[in-house]
Amino acid sequence: MALAFTNSLTRTKEPFVSIRPGEVGLYTCGPTVYNIAHIGNFRAYVFEDLLKRTLQFCGYRVRHVMNLTDVDDKTIRDSRAAGLSLNEFTQRFKDAFFADTKVLRIAPADVYPEATAHIPEMITLIQALIDKGIAYRAEDGSVYFSIARWPNYGQLVHIEAEQMRPGTRVSHDEYAKESVADFALWKSWSEDDGDVAWDSPWGRGRPGWHIECSAMSARYLGPHFDIHCGGVDNMFPHHEDEIAQSEAANGCQFVNVWMHCAHLVVDGVKMSKSLGNFHTLRDVLQRGWSGREVRYVLLATHYRQSLNFSFRACEDARAALQRLDAFRERLLEAARLPDSDTAAAAAAAQAAEAGFRAALEDDLNISAALATLFDLVREGNRLLDAGAVAGAAAKAILGTLERFDSVLAVMTPDEDAGVPADIQALADARQAARKAKDFARADQLRDQLAAAGWVIEDTPKGPRVRRR
Ligand SMILES: [Zn+2]
Repeated sequence: MALAFTNSLTRTKEPFVSIRPGEVGLYTCGPTVYNIAHIGNFRAYVFEDLLKRTLQFCGYRVRHVMNLTDVDDKTIRDSRAAGLSLNEFTQRFKDAFFADTKVLRIAPADVYPEATAHIPEMITLIQALIDKGIAYRAEDGSVYFSIARWPNYGQLVHIEAEQMRPGTRVSHDEYAKESVADFALWKSWSEDDGDVAWDSPWGRGRPGWHIECSAMSARYLGPHFDIHCGGVDNMFPHHEDEIAQSEAANGCQFVNVWMHCAHLVVDGVKMSKSLGNFHTLRDVLQRGWSGREVRYVLLATHYRQSLNFSFRACEDARAALQRLDAFRERLLEAARLPDSDTAAAAAAAQAAEAGFRAALEDDLNISAALATLFDLVREGNRLLDAGAVAGAAAKAILGTLERFDSVLAVMTPDEDAGVPADIQALADARQAARKAKDFARADQLRDQLAAAGWVIEDTPKGPRVRRR
């Protein structure tokens, strides 16, 4: 069996061969920190987490770089509207992003370079493109990449040369996809930018969005690295422009494998604020779902398929995780018993490990990997019922689950995660009533919680609220 991924560059599933044996350089486009990321954004980050953990599961050391876009049209516009400096404004969304990734158990990247901290690298890269005659300075001090002078443009989205309209300059980071045109590497200062500007050989201004990923990936992974990911929305123009800038400047192939995840829809339709189906992670947690339940939903659809998010899917995730929890608890109990014959349990665990690995190696086939996991749950429960799993046999299966969880990261329960504020307030009031020995009031509050679908468990660490 060998690892294989679908490469957006060639549009085929290819065996994965790393540039350096045993090591993978991975770059994933990070958030633009001007708002709270929504669950569609997290679909991409969870897919990338699955990819990274799978590579690690297969024995690779992964160097993972994820940028934070903390200067662009949107961050400037909204920081000014909020009356805050760019840094103050973006910091709160950086904090929120890291808090949310933690809730979703996304393993941290090795480096999170911020665009504002890498302006010199971007200037050097732009200068290299000017020196090669591929970029040019316009009258106002902005610098553009000339598509006409770079015939290789369009590798990723396979654009025909006739479709391009060289000479038309567009200064926005994002523009209508029909209009393929020279794109801005450096934008000269305009009044809308307020005090956001850096000195450059072309005058004061700021970098375009695309150049930051070319500059920061080269800084941390070198000019040629293994895998670059993003959502399918990033393919054009962002990734296409990254390829053009990097390859034109560095004279070598930029990335071997491009991987893109498909969209997320909610109840079968595009997420939008006007439809009322626009969810941040926080919204979903407020409704009583936990981080690992949301992670499970985001994980369980193959990355190249559109993911349909619904609360029905959250219910299914909860049921699946409850089955897993119950199975693990049975095994933990059985592990304390004297050893049974281990042959049947070892065979089941071994078959599951082989199946799980083969599934993930096949372009991250998560459905098959989860099916293998639940086959093990079924077979393990059958053996437990028959009294055939005790002691070392139970530990063998627990070991397998642990290895699976190094990839899935869904098996340990969230501590008090996703308890809505109003529910927590009721629980706190009950605790206060108990302390005051007002047991009638405490019981009344407990009933109120029960009516809302919550129970309180008194644990050694104090009372804990969880969904019934
Ligand atoms: Zn990027």
